[in-house]
Amino acid sequence: MKGETGLKKLAIIGSTGSIGRQTLEVVEYLKERITVYGLAAHSRVDLLAAQVKKYRPQVVVLGDAGKLKTLASLLTGWNGRLLAGPEGLEELAADPEVDMVVSSAVGAAGIKPTLTAVKSGKEVALANKEALVAAGELIMNEVKARKVRFLSIDSEHSSVFQCLAGQQPSELKNIYLTASGGPFRNTTLSEMRKVTPERALAHPTWKMGKKITIDSATLMNKGMEVIEAHWLFGLPYDRIKVVIHPQSMVHALVETVDGFFLAQLGPADMRLPIKFALTYPERTDNPFAGLDLFSLNRLEFFAPDVKRFPCLPLAYAAGRRGGTMPAVMNAANEEAVAAFLQHRLGFSEIGSMVEKVMERHEKDGVVFHPDLETIMTVDRWARKMCSSLLPAAFDRNTGL
Ligand code: MG
Repeated sequence: MKGETGLKKLAIIGSTGSIGRQTLEVVEYLKERITVYGLAAHSRVDLLAAQVKKYRPQVVVLGDAGKLKTLASLLTGWNGRLLAGPEGLEELAADPEVDMVVSSAVGAAGIKPTLTAVKSGKEVALANKEALVAAGELIMNEVKARKVRFLSIDSEHSSVFQCLAGQQPSELKNIYLTASGGPFRNTTLSEMRKVTPERALAHPTWKMGKKITIDSATLMNKGMEVIEAHWLFGLPYDRIKVVIHPQSMVHALVETVDGFFLAQLGPADMRLPIKFALTYPERTDNPFAGLDLFSLNRLEFFAPDVKRFPCLPLAYAAGRRGGTMPAVMNAANEEAVAAFLQHRLGFSEIGSMVEKVMERHEKDGVVFHPDLETIMTVDRWARKMCSSLLPAAFDRNTGL
């Protein structure tokens, strides 16, 4: 599918976010292989315009159509195709010129374009784990039917994928996803009630976007990764384990039936799994700082504390329940995290909010094997429900 230039044509959905920016950094080192064909961002017009000037894509999409005029005024001298809104994202994801889509929008906004990319036969590098959480069955059915290459650029899943190379499914016992434990690994429950967004946004080992940083602090991110792993590797939930590993050097482990653990180690740098996905099945030289094995004094592994981090067992429960439940969990979590960032909800209330919305959905009736329409409907329902349950006034000192 590569054009006459022989370069892989990339579309980045979410180009101004943390993964999008790091993908562009990686592309700098892969100019002989990859060209940026399309860039899509939600609303950061200044940064998007700067990226357009630098990478000269042929298609640009702005999610927030209200800012299209501002963007257009910044793009003088560029004469590619400028699109807007969800339809624009769909158009880019399905563009016949595109070889590979990097799906790195934040949250549920990434579900549709990811599905469209797969349906259009594109290679997909997925950073938007919410797409697999909410619509895993739907997406993976299309991946199988169309035999498209679908790689996660989540560091843990990239690691599992690499550890599984050469293994037969029947030889695999368990997979372990590591979690740093986030900034509140050793914080007491009563202290956690008083946590501010500013404190929660300071992650000890990874540099990431806001939403995923909060999800990492609550361990919801790890819970969603468990669901993501379930769909990517086809394992039942009791064979997908989470282990706290504060050093963030081992990204995942695979346990084989004959009693071995295969671990993947690397620096806590997303550019490595991004580059792996962009060049797979080839491995190319690492231009970034590598891991200094001799500087690793110790590697620790602990069981997660599910009492202080209720989002983790909630995600397992949603995954096991299946159907529309993970989509509801995902939407409720997105709203709860947004409310926390706006100082409208306590840190330790994020989990209870998600749980309440999941309970209501259980009463209303989980729908199994949902289509996209059903998933988007429960997504909207869960967001509304979450807003209606938000406390009118929130006092961080009492957590009420
Ligand atoms: Mg991850």
